[in-house]
Amino acid sequence: MEVRHKAKKSLGQNFLQDDNIARKIVDSLKISEGDSVIEIGPGRGALTKHILEASPKKLMLIEMDRYLAPALAEEYPTAEVVQEDALKFLWEELDSGENWKIIGNLPYNVASKIMWDIASKSPAVNCVFMVQHEVGLRITAKQGSRKYGGISAWIQSFCQTQYLFQVPPTVFKPKPKVDSAVIKFYSLPNSEKPSDPEGLANLIKFCFQYRRKQLGNTLKSFVSDSLLQWMEEEGLTLKDRPEALSPLQFQGLYNCIKKDFP
Ligand code: SAM
Repeated sequence: MEVRHKAKKSLGQNFLQDDNIARKIVDSLKISEGDSVIEIGPGRGALTKHILEASPKKLMLIEMDRYLAPALAEEYPTAEVVQEDALKFLWEELDSGENWKIIGNLPYNVASKIMWDIASKSPAVNCVFMVQHEVGLRITAKQGSRKYGGISAWIQSFCQTQYLFQVPPTVFKPKPKVDSAVIKFYSLPNSEKPSDPEGLANLIKFCFQYRRKQLGNTLKSFVSDSLLQWMEEEGLTLKDRPEALSPLQFQGLYNCIKKDFP
């Protein structure tokens, strides 16, 4: 796609130049003909043409750049182009009867917030994102590991996450300063997702704010007999640190505290 404009740093515009990597990213979403696909930040269309080759039922392109959005609409007339900030998109309003899959080489400065919103609000079954390598490692980190933190526990409360592959800066123009990672989300069944996402988010943030502190100190105002009993059943102690808790255990902890301190 030929759009003569300078890449904007403020919009995280690092355009992918390697067509084999673009195809590999799109292939990892495994698009079928019945799927409805959303691409976030299509830019100059590096991924878009490969998405259309997979013949999805529909394709929505969310692009904030006011020069790129009309050029995309002209180049890909079968796609619905939405010129909007993905941070303001109402993910919860997507038709849950469709089989949504979401993909994007995300702008680094807002990637975590976009993924946070999509994981917790959208009905998408699968997502594939390219993000800053460090962010990719955190989001896919397993409980107990060094990289496991608040964003890992939060996103993994809604989906299983998988690290797919690393992408070097040399395949972008302009080149970013760091490596990128391609990661995949597999949505959990609705019955396994948190019933009070906001409350759970606050608890996870609260616990990881004091990452090096033992749970007994962080949660001292909430310790009750039932909390201690729940911890024992889960094989946890007040000496554990927050990274010891799986996403499901954070939900258990939240339910316990909410029962005692409604
Ligand atoms: N997909 C293209 C590629 O792989 O070459 C472009 C990727 S570039 C890293 C990020 C894209 O997201 C840019 O096109 C940028 O204009 C767009 N963008 C940045 N912030 C956005 C936002 N908040 N909402 C929607 N699009 C955004």
